[in-house]
Amino acid sequence: MDDFALVLNSGSSSLKYAVFRTSVGADWPIVVRGNLEGIGTAPKMSARDGAGASLETPPLPAEVSDARAALEYVFAWLQSRLAGGRIMGVGHRVVHGGAQYTQPVIVTAQVLAQLRRLVPYAPLHQPYNLAAIEAVAQHRPDVPQVACFDTSFHRSLPAVAKLVPLPQELCRDGLQRYGFHGLSYEYIASVLPQVAPQLAQGRVIVAHLGSGASLCALRAGESVENTFGFTALDGLCMGTRPGAVDPGVILYLFQGLGLSVHEVETMLYKKSGLLGISGVSNDMRDLLASREPSARLAVEYFIYRVAKEVGALTAVLGGLDALVFTAGIGENSPVIRHRVCEACAWLGIDLDEEANTANRPRISRATSAVAVLMIPTNEELMIARHTGRLLASPEARW
Ligand code: ADP
Repeated sequence: MDDFALVLNSGSSSLKYAVFRTSVGADWPIVVRGNLEGIGTAPKMSARDGAGASLETPPLPAEVSDARAALEYVFAWLQSRLAGGRIMGVGHRVVHGGAQYTQPVIVTAQVLAQLRRLVPYAPLHQPYNLAAIEAVAQHRPDVPQVACFDTSFHRSLPAVAKLVPLPQELCRDGLQRYGFHGLSYEYIASVLPQVAPQLAQGRVIVAHLGSGASLCALRAGESVENTFGFTALDGLCMGTRPGAVDPGVILYLFQGLGLSVHEVETMLYKKSGLLGISGVSNDMRDLLASREPSARLAVEYFIYRVAKEVGALTAVLGGLDALVFTAGIGENSPVIRHRVCEACAWLGIDLDEEANTANRPRISRATSAVAVLMIPTNEELMIARHTGRLLASPEARW
């Protein structure tokens, strides 16, 4: 009988899942992946097999209103799909591990209690990540669970990069810069030695450009800086988040405009960035297709911010050997890659337009002073690998 690892990424109204067949070696085959959207409103389930073909899934009743109900459906459907195969463990994407969790961890009651204390760090994400862990614990207490954090990979940031320059007595209890998208960067760092062995040892910027967007500076495969900070609001312009904003603007929203904490929070997480600038969409495809001047401005600002931060991280690294594009926009948009490289031409980047249009892994010419690569990310596989490794370890007496 086959063993499988289930990977869950639980949000406020969606539950993304992926199932990997566990096998020897790091490259576990994916057997099914999907999404349960509209939890609490109009729930809908979708699934694809390992080759990406759409699978039939059952219609969901409106009662699927929380993570627990959603998971019962996912488990029931998977049980029939996996023909009685055993789910040996569940790996969760958890946004915040705080200062304590610098590695993935097997979930115990104590771990869960500590992760709950981090809810104020990521109030719009952490509660939903933890709700999925609680739901699995209730529904399938026999299955061990592993929490994998978006913050852990950035544990190697030097102390100066972790600083939040406020009175330090405020910062003793975890108020520091962390960094996110860590599972994506860890995956890219894990495959770079095969894709480009020499570059993997060098100074690399990875551009994770999706709905959320950030850059990570790698030195010999370790994170030394990233554009996020204490929260996933900092840095680049994103689909609905603004990225770096003068903190005085936030004070003005409260004092000058009299907005409430909730209004400002919603504005910063859901109404700003590409959507806020364009008034058209948070989706890069819509913006690139639009003739609205505001949509063009949003794209221009997105590129401007990426190029500006590439400059900053190049300074941190003391030079640059490679720039790697990944995630939804980075993997699929030759236009955005072209425009970012154009804005970074001062680095000596010489893009191979044909390779870029064809979405090849190496998209710069041999003469380029900085190699430019496109590597699809795979956060789910990273979580599955951690889950398998931890559950096979001696500490797995959960
Ligand atoms: P997340 O995982 O953060 O939700 P993704 O990494 O899946 O985001 O990226 C989603 C974004 O990728 C979409 O919002 C869309 O803007 C962008 N995207 C996907 N395909 C393309 C494309 N062909 N051209 C431009 N942008 C694209």
